[in-house]
Amino acid sequence: MRISGNDVLIVVDVQNDFVSGSMAIPGAQEIIMPINSAAKKFDHVVVVTDWHPKDHVSFASAHPGANERDVVQVSYGEQSVFADHCVQGTHGAELAPGLELTKAEMIFRKGYRREVDSYGAFLENDKKTVTGLGPYLKARGLERVFCAGLARYGCVMQSALGAAGEGFEVFILHDASAGDRNVEENNRIVAQAGIGWLNTFDLVGADEA
Ligand code: ZN
Repeated sequence: MRISGNDVLIVVDVQNDFVSGSMAIPGAQEIIMPINSAAKKFDHVVVVTDWHPKDHVSFASAHPGANERDVVQVSYGEQSVFADHCVQGTHGAELAPGLELTKAEMIFRKGYRREVDSYGAFLENDKKTVTGLGPYLKARGLERVFCAGLARYGCVMQSALGAAGEGFEVFILHDASAGDRNVEENNRIVAQAGIGWLNTFDLVGADEA
């Protein structure tokens, strides 16, 4: 598939805590090279990061008696809770070493409101608060969204679903994402949303022969 000037690569949550820190995802280190390779093929790259206040609603530590991976009730329904991660301004929230994304045109932060988590980059977990990323991309004339990062069936998938919900044509880069969970069920959800799967080597950069 040839990449054009109307395409954007969105790199989700490739931060220290998800690669080597408190919520390290198996295989995360192996996606750095494919992401760098993909980024070279795109004119437009957006970096999305988890960016939580220290007492965020998604932290088990913010709910007395709760353990990691428990589900708790919050204002918008159920929310899974995790180890403290990607706290604003900490080493864990920094982009993982080795990423070559200096060409990124925007670094987009999500999950910065204490009371609401945001797995996806387009729609927060209350399923009604939009982040504004969709209108930004549309204003830039971007039409196709290619998602990479962590976790494949977590924030990457939710970002892809959010983009599809806002009318973009969407693909997930399999080799530039990691983290398997409920694969069969999630693959059905992805397919129903019309989202395609590609690998980095399927992409031909705009300036490649
Ligand atoms: Zn988070």
